[in-house]
Amino acid sequence: MSPYQLPKQQIVETAQSLVEKGYLMATGGNLSIRIAGQNAFAVTPSNYDYGKMTPDDVCVLDFDLNVIEGALKPSVESALHAGVYQTRADVQAVVHTHQVYASTLALINAPIPALFDEQVRFLGRSVEIIPYAPSGTGFLKNAIVKHIKNHHNAYILQNHGALCFGHDVERAAHNVEILEKCALAYLLALCTERQTSQIPLPIREIAFAKLRKDQKKAERGEMSTSGE
Ligand SMILES: [Zn+2]
Repeated sequence: MSPYQLPKQQIVETAQSLVEKGYLMATGGNLSIRIAGQNAFAVTPSNYDYGKMTPDDVCVLDFDLNVIEGALKPSVESALHAGVYQTRADVQAVVHTHQVYASTLALINAPIPALFDEQVRFLGRSVEIIPYAPSGTGFLKNAIVKHIKNHHNAYILQNHGALCFGHDVERAAHNVEILEKCALAYLLALCTERQTSQIPLPIREIAFAKLRKDQKKAERGEMSTSGE
């Protein structure tokens, strides 16, 4: 059996669950898992139906994008995933989606301020907008690498979609759901044209400190894969 079987299996299960919940559509978006102890990651293939995907279809690449395992063409955003793993030692899984509500904020260039305790605890102080760059280009990878050094776990890609990280793939997928809930609530709040209140600053900092503690544990490989 391939030493990469478990992450490949996790990618298929997570992708299909995200499709069922409506966060991934058809072939849009992509996800990856870091291979522990190697400069490598497993990533979804390019333009391939998630419903049909099996673990054998998942690609394993090194950080220079050389194929270690897999017959299909890897995701066109593979460079972006490699860039995240090289920049953020705490990140063990990356999910990129075109989820609708976060994508709407991506169109009106509206970052999400600190609205909810849970949001800051898992996504970071705010959800920033990463400026537009075309899909699949080095420009997009560079824009992302530049922004993610603030240790947040969710970002909106201008005129494109969303990007979520986690210390394991379950956490990354859960962060996709938290982001979408916050994006919808914020959009509705904006529609009322009334002032949106934020959580108190000291609470925001306490919640973010908890996230940073998790991230430092993940960097040392001490984070359990079951989450909390
Ligand atoms: Zn995309």
